[in-house]
Amino acid sequence: MAADLAPDGKSVGAITTVDYHNAWCGLTDPEYRRKKNRVGDVLLRRLNEVLPGASDAVVHQELATPHTIERFTHNPLGTAYGFAPTPNQTLGAREIEPSVDGLHFASAWSSPGGGFTGAILSGAKTARSLTSDVGTFS
Ligand SMILES: Cc1cc2nc3c(=O)[nH]c(=O)nc-3n(C[C@H](O)[C@H](O)[C@H](O)COP(=O)(O)OP(=O)(O)OC[C@H]3O[C@@H](n4cnc5c(N)ncnc54)[C@H](O)[C@@H]3O)c2cc1C
Repeated sequence: MAADLAPDGKSVGAITTVDYHNAWCGLTDPEYRRKKNRVGDVLLRRLNEVLPGASDAVVHQELATPHTIERFTHNPLGTAYGFAPTPNQTLGAREIEPSVDGLHFASAWSSPGGGFTGAILSGAKTARSLTSDVGTFS
């Protein structure tokens, strides 16, 4: 099933890059909006360098900053992937011991880590750890 994010004959594209929350702090609303427009223009110009003429096909553009992600997800500083996804905090290396008995975590902020896959695996792992309460999980 199509996501229907774009009308027939059009599609949706995303340009992503690393950014810092504090690069967007201390701005008035008009300054924030101007900066968003400027950054959007820079990204489109760079897209054109890789795919000449690509920006001519753009009919609508939006730019999300770390503040946008923080606003919609409530994640501190707009991080999308949970706490410091460094090599020694990734996959099996990231174990979180709850300090309260019976408390379990399932999210990108616990083990094995961020992303949709990380959140799904974390949910399955937590559910499996609760087999005595919820029955057998395969
Ligand atoms: C723009 C963007 C693109 C992404 N693209 C990808 C991708 O292509 N592939 C990929 O694997 N991952 C991607 N991710 C990352 C992925 O979305 C997250 O890692 C994953 O959704 C985290 O799941 P979660 O359940 O831990 O947290 P979330 O999905 O963030 O869910 C947390 C929920 O808790 C709610 N909440 C927060 N604070 C409170 C509170 N105090 N009270 C009540 N509710 C609260 C939030 O509103 C939210 O609904 C992307 C993230 C973003 C922002």
